Amino acid sequence: MADTVPAHARVVVIGGGIAGCSVAYHLTKLGWTDVVLLERREISCGTTWHAAGLVGQLRATQNLTKLARYGGDLYERLEAETGQATGFRRPGSLSLARTPERMIELKRGASMARCFGVEVEVITPGEAGRRWPLLRTDDLVGGLWLPGDGRTNPIDTTRALARGARQGGARIVENVAVTGVRVRDGAVAGVATTRGDVACAVVVNCAGMWAREVGRLAGVTVPLHASEHFYIVTEPMAGVTPDLPVLRDTDGYIYVREEVGGLLMGGFEPVAKPWGMTGIPEDFAFSLLPEDWEHFRVLLEQGCLRIPALASAPVRQHVNGPESFTPDGRYMLGEAPERRGFFVAAGFNSIGIASGAGAGKAVAEWIAGGEPPMDLWDVDIRRFGGFQGNPRYLRDRTVEMVGRLYAMHWPFLQPETARGVRRSVLHDRLRARGACFGVVMGWERANWYATRGQAPEYTYSYGRQNWFSCAAEEHRAVRETVGLFDQSSFAKLQLQGPDALAALNRLCPNEIDVPVGTVVYTAMLNPRGGIECDLTVTRTADDTFLVVTSAAASTHDADWIRRHLDPDTRVTLSDVTSAYAVLGVMGPRSRDLLARLTDADLSNAAFPFGASRGVWLAYAPVRATRITYVGELGWELYVPTEFAPGVHDALVDAGDDLGLRHAGYHAMDSLRMEKAYRSWGHDLGSEDTPLEAGLAFAVRLDKKTPFIGQPALRAQGARPLSRRLAVFTLEDAEPLLLGDEPIWRDGALVGRVTSGAYGHTLGRSVGLGYVTHPDGVDERFLASGRWEVEIACARVAARASLTPPYDPESRRIRT
Ligand SMILES: Cc1cc2nc3c(=O)[nH]c(=O)nc-3n(C[C@H](O)[C@H](O)[C@H](O)COP(=O)(O)OP(=O)(O)OC[C@H]3O[C@@H](n4cnc5c(N)ncnc54)[C@H](O)[C@@H]3O)c2cc1C
Repeated sequence: MADTVPAHARVVVIGGGIAGCSVAYHLTKLGWTDVVLLERREISCGTTWHAAGLVGQLRATQNLTKLARYGGDLYERLEAETGQATGFRRPGSLSLARTPERMIELKRGASMARCFGVEVEVITPGEAGRRWPLLRTDDLVGGLWLPGDGRTNPIDTTRALARGARQGGARIVENVAVTGVRVRDGAVAGVATTRGDVACAVVVNCAGMWAREVGRLAGVTVPLHASEHFYIVTEPMAGVTPDLPVLRDTDGYIYVREEVGGLLMGGFEPVAKPWGMTGIPEDFAFSLLPEDWEHFRVLLEQGCLRIPALASAPVRQHVNGPESFTPDGRYMLGEAPERRGFFVAAGFNSIGIASGAGAGKAVAEWIAGGEPPMDLWDVDIRRFGGFQGNPRYLRDRTVEMVGRLYAMHWPFLQPETARGVRRSVLHDRLRARGACFGVVMGWERANWYATRGQAPEYTYSYGRQNWFSCAAEEHRAVRETVGLFDQSSFAKLQLQGPDALAALNRLCPNEIDVPVGTVVYTAMLNPRGGIECDLTVTRTADDTFLVVTSAAASTHDADWIRRHLDPDTRVTLSDVTSAYAVLGVMGPRSRDLLARLTDADLSNAAFPFGASRGVWLAYAPVRATRITYVGELGWELYVPTEFAPGVHDALVDAGDDLGLRHAGYHAMDSLRMEKAYRSWGHDLGSEDTPLEAGLAFAVRLDKKTPFIGQPALRAQGARPLSRRLAVFTLEDAEPLLLGDEPIWRDGALVGRVTSGAYGHTLGRSVGLGYVTHPDGVDERFLASGRWEVEIACARVAARASLTPPYDPESRRIRT
């Protein structure tokens, strides 16, 4: 008898792939037993059933690695717990490098793995050959050996999770499709299905490549698109044994593993085939797509090059199955900003088996605890914006994202597809001046300006890239004369109303009750004191505030503010991003330049640091705010969009003889690093408090209005800090810090670089990173140790301090 669909449940999980079964399983582990999982056909019938089952541990960040490692551990013990075998084994994995640059990438990964506690060994081509006898090794540079990496049977693993969920009390109902999401007062109230309604307060969208459409049922943007993904399986081959490690030859786009005595070989070709543009057929279950040998050829050729015996091996099976990909290649977790109670766990970019266990656990804990259980910003659904729901955008980007998985992960790599989505009104002007654009949240932003006939295009490498000297000159101009930045991509939110001040003062640890015309740098904290937002608040009228944050954090920060506004609060929150262009005029000659275009008194006495005023500038009404992210005298000009080209041109005309230079985001990054200014999402996040991050100056612990996180900060402030963000300056002028490098003190691993850049004034790389020591981290501790930063497995001596290496007293800002 088919299971019945209940009339209500505490949580409804949509989709019985590995993600849905994992969410249901983990909810029951937390004691949430009133859970129903609805699957339109049968468990694992979507993408999960035909996965290759690779379970790698090392991911781009520490927390994602934690989640992937948890997956292996869980799959290993699930049979004992549930009675259902998973097929999980740990044959280890080999990653190969064909080029020196790929070897640097692998070595950087090995260094990172050490920080994350993943066992790893750098090996020679000969060692790779010994572990994988069929391998051609004469053209290899080296490789990595990860003994803990595994493989599993996706169907059995999903069944084990489903069985575990059932044993824990969850109900799993197959052959029932969710057709609608009921909403009350803006929040989830239930789902409509092909077999009646289910009332519930929480829905989890685990619908795989259907998740975009399921999101739409609730008015939620789930930016993913399916793509065809291929592998072949050969007949048994001599020399292929079950203990053969999983092989990744990413320079040839391929992965290989043993399958019933033969080889399973698949890959991620550079130009992919998006699929399902006109919808996914109703009867798509345990289905495959047509074979496409022509498309597969690029992978097969590379496979035969690496494993010559493959060329003569009969192929038993050609698998072409669809998988969903996101615009940035990372999966999506969390509560959707558009709809309370609507969670998403989807868009797994071909690592859903490896990450499904951890992702399900994280989402279950997020639901039960009301907040992410750890810093999950890299996969938080709020890193996307509504514009990314556009199917055309998704389809075009997917062509590129499949290949990105195995392509070189160059520093500063920019996508090539789906570009030009959001442009500042100054875009064409900047382009005419040689701007090379990067993209953040769809915004095209000038990262650097080409000079001397150079093409404004990236030439990527792990060394100094082709823009290094351009950014150095821009950097110098900001330090010595004046630089012009287009910062229009800033997200701008206006909070207005009689309760705006009270609401912001509850959200912000800094004092917001300041005179009109003042800008306040502040965080917004979670109850643990972790930094959820890092932004500025400008009081523009008694009851009106302009909140400015980074483009990347725009959806997240607006959501954070909105969800913490009491429903009865008399405040309106408006996104005014498009209303203003922002021009940063930064450097010692910035006052002289602006003075040529305005009658306003810009003197230190009349316009001090932290002041924000409406002024006439050239022909435009402009809000000039004296603030900086580069450590120099300067103003951010908030210009009504249609006036911005005029202001830009006036600045350029007036600034010529003052040495004005257009400057991009790479220069901004090197400038801010020298001043040790923090960046949210890198140096600051929900697990870091302002005290640990060295931002105590932006906290008013004794503020009259209680603020979120205040008790936690008070408690932390009463003890010595065992974890603190320090700034590291390399002794050697050559190496580059890019972030994620391990930090060593007296030969012991004590931290990791959270962001790094070359400091062109200092003539060496600078990085920020948290350092942990149980007895407390202070200036004496930092001064007394022997510090090293590990770059691609080589340690480089460094100096550590809590104070910025450039202008530590901030004299230049306040002149
Ligand atoms: C060829 C290939 C090889 C792969 N190899 C690997 C690998 O080696 N390692 C790895 O980690 N990953 C691999 N993957 C990726 C992995 O298979 C996926 O990331 C993972 O299976 C996605 O799981 P899911 O639960 O999100 O989606 P799915 O398995 O597709 O599950 C979604 C489910 O939702 C159901 N559903 C949809 N709409 C509704 C609705 N309205 N109501 C009810 N139910 C609904 C569907 O029927 C489906 O069963 C591979 C993928 C492919 C295509």
